[in-house]
Amino acid sequence: MPTDVPGHRVTYRFILLAELEDFVTLRRSVGVSRARLVIDDVVARLVAALPLVRADRSGQAALELSFECESSNEGVAIAERMRAIIAEPFDLDGETYHLSLRIGGIGAPMFDSDELQLIEAAEQALADAREIGSDVVRDLANPSAGDDPVQLMRELPEAIAAGQIFLQYQPKVRVRQQEVVSAEALVRWRHPVRGLILPGMFIEAAERSGAIGILTLWIIERVIADQRALAAQGHDIPIFINISGILLSDGGFVHDACALVSAGGAKIGFEITETAVIRDPESAIANLRMFAAIGVPLAIDDYGAGLSSLAYLKRLPASELKIDKLFVTQLTSSNRDPLIVRSTIDLAHALDMEVTAEGVETPAALALLSVMGCDMVQGFLISRPIEFAAFLSFLAEERHVAAMAGPRLSFRRNEGQWKVG
Ligand code: C2E
Ligand code: CA
Ligand code: CA
Repeated sequence: MPTDVPGHRVTYRFILLAELEDFVTLRRSVGVSRARLVIDDVVARLVAALPLVRADRSGQAALELSFECESSNEGVAIAERMRAIIAEPFDLDGETYHLSLRIGGIGAPMFDSDELQLIEAAEQALADAREIGSDVVRDLANPSAGDDPVQLMRELPEAIAAGQIFLQYQPKVRVRQQEVVSAEALVRWRHPVRGLILPGMFIEAAERSGAIGILTLWIIERVIADQRALAAQGHDIPIFINISGILLSDGGFVHDACALVSAGGAKIGFEITETAVIRDPESAIANLRMFAAIGVPLAIDDYGAGLSSLAYLKRLPASELKIDKLFVTQLTSSNRDPLIVRSTIDLAHALDMEVTAEGVETPAALALLSVMGCDMVQGFLISRPIEFAAFLSFLAEERHVAAMAGPRLSFRRNEGQWKVG
């Protein structure tokens, strides 16, 4: 693997593939022939602003860019600069249009770059970028940059400051009334080299390194702001935040979290696992009572997946129990899981808690959970986790109704249209 030799510059070669997002909408709006020319305007603007970049169109809505620079970080910075350059409005026949680029790219040290390998890696990066909805620019010489948890934790404080950490929201829906009653905030990291990193890749490392406290306080602040914005739009539902067990016995964190929530004037809930409580029950339970006392509802997360103790379950000031998705995704294909889910629902109700099933992916699972008396559901069937703006439209358009009605609703609609027509 190539390394930096002191005194010698490693020159990087980059190939970026970029495509115009929303090209179809643009074509509808300006017409086929004008839209075809748009990509030429994009190329001209990029070349004018970045003379060292070679740019060619590679399709109606796509272009290929290549350049040399000194390091992989510089290449990532140039890709970001391209985005910004294209984000400036375009004037098309007197009308103003906003365009945006989706970029997938690859860089490698000059002496180590095989053209075919670079192009194929760039194509893969663009495919990944499309899938995750975020640019991906990789370093071929260091493919695991971003995989190393120690390295990731070094980068975390800066990533928070640079706006790379963001939240997605996933609704929880009450089965009987068919209304969205709350949402869960899930953290993500838009890493400049690695692309989108899911929490499974960095939460554990953040717990080990101690960065989880700062991260969670940042999340609480963000959620408070977002919940207030939701309420202002007429959707005053609580948003639940996942709190790592390790923080439940951290006096400093509990103090800061209580202060934020009390001052924030927003409806915030916490999700915690039982395993977290079992580790240090006395201080965890005392702190959970403190949260409950300032009006933070608590949900027990991942029920059934880890250690369980009825003795602790009874002592927790929780109002909601979430059945782990492990049991829910298998619900209609296993003999044992329906029994476990059914008895968990009964147990929670006996303890005066409401039950949420997470991981609801199919209409069949929803139907069975409804018959079993499950109070709330959450899962891909209703919505994947989505960014705040998309979540607002989801609520405004009440999209959960169609999602829960499934194919039957569209059938009825067709029937109605048939009669009217
Ligand atoms: P979790 O709290 O159990 O969150 C639910 C996970 O299930 C999420 O994964 C979500 O995207 C996924 N999921 C939702 N609906 C479905 C479905 O229908 N089917 C399937 N198969 N999966 C579904 P994600 O976002 O990758 O989060 C993983 C875990 O990371 C979370 O599990 C939670 O334990 C942790 N996490 C997420 N955000 C935070 C955070 O802000 N702080 C802390 N401490 N942990 C977090
Ligand atoms: Ca959770
Ligand atoms: Ca869970």
